[in-house]
Amino acid sequence: DRPSIAWIGLGIMGSPMSENLIKAGYDVTGFTLEQDKLDRLTAAGGTAVGSIAEAVRDADVIITMVPASPQVEAVAYGPEGILENARPGALLIDMSSITPGTSVELARAAAARGIRVLDAPVSGGEAGAVEAVLSIMVGGEQADFDAARPVFEALGRTVVRCGPHGSGQTVKAANQLIVAVNIQACAEAVVFLEKSGVDLTAALDVLAGGLAGSTVLARKRDNFLGRDFRPGFRIDLHHKDMGIVTDAARAVGAALPVGAVVAQLVASLRAQGDGGLDHSALLRTVERLSGS
Ligand code: NAD
Repeated sequence: DRPSIAWIGLGIMGSPMSENLIKAGYDVTGFTLEQDKLDRLTAAGGTAVGSIAEAVRDADVIITMVPASPQVEAVAYGPEGILENARPGALLIDMSSITPGTSVELARAAAARGIRVLDAPVSGGEAGAVEAVLSIMVGGEQADFDAARPVFEALGRTVVRCGPHGSGQTVKAANQLIVAVNIQACAEAVVFLEKSGVDLTAALDVLAGGLAGSTVLARKRDNFLGRDFRPGFRIDLHHKDMGIVTDAARAVGAALPVGAVVAQLVASLRAQGDGGLDHSALLRTVERLSGS
C-alpha cells in the first residue's frame, strides 16, 4: 500500500517531481504559492489545497521543495507549519538545497513531535526532474532512508544515503561548487573559441568526446550556442548555494580558492540584474570581461 504524499513547493522542480509520483501511483496533495502551479497539479491528477495544514494533515510522507533555508523554516515552523499540523509518525523529506545546519536543526525540532526527517537535495536540473533521473543525496537515519527508497526511486536514478542529518546538504553544496566552476570553465572556453574564430559547434562536439566532456557541457551546450539563458537553474539560487558551500567550507577549514572566485562572478552577475537567468549566463560575465 503506497503512502499518501503531501508536496509543498511546486516550482520548476517540484511540479515535474510531484507529477512523477502521481504517475507512479501515489496520491499527492499539494500546496504552493502560485495558483497556476496548483492548477497544474490538479490537471496532473493531484489534489491542490489552500494551506500547508490541509496538505499535511493526513499525509504519511511530506516533501518540501522550496527555494532556500528561510522558506524551509517558514513552511516547517509556526502554528500553520508542517510540524504543528502533521501527524506523529509522518516522514518529512526536505528536497530543497539549504544550509546543512538548518537540516540538522529541523530534524531535532521534528523529533520532539514524533516526526522523522531526511534531507534529500537533488542534482540533475529541470530535465532530470522531468525524466525522473535525478541524483538524490540523502542525510538521516538508515531506517528512514530505507522507508523512503520507493519514493526516491520514482524521482531519480542515483539514490545514496551520505550519512547523518545534514550530510545530504553537504554533498549538494559540493555538487554546486563543481557545477559552478565547470560552467565558468566552459564559458571561458566558449568566449576564447569564438574570439579565435573557431566554429563553436564543431569545437563543442569534439570537446564533449574527450576528457573535457561533462554533463554541464552536454546540458548547457544549447544555452551557450543560442545565448538562451531562460532558467533552468536561476543565478539567484546558485548564488544562495555558493554562499552555503563557502560558509560550510570555512567552518571546516577547507580552502576553495577557485570556488571563491566563481562565487564572486555569480554574485556580480546577480548584481547586474541577471539573477533570474539560468546559471549558464555566467557566459555573459566572461563576455563583459572580454569586451565581447
Ligand atoms: P522555484 O522558485 O521554481 O520553486 C519554488 C517553489 O516554492 C515555488 O513554487 C513557491 O511557490 C514555493 N514556495 C516558496 N515559499 C513557499 C511557502 N512559504 N509555502 C509554500 N510554497 C512556497 O525553485 P526551483 O528551481 O524549483 O528550486 C527549488 C529547490 O530545488 C531550491 O532549493 C533549488 O536550489 C533546488 N534545485 C533546483 C534545481 C533547478 O534546476 N531548478 C536543481 C536542483 C536543485
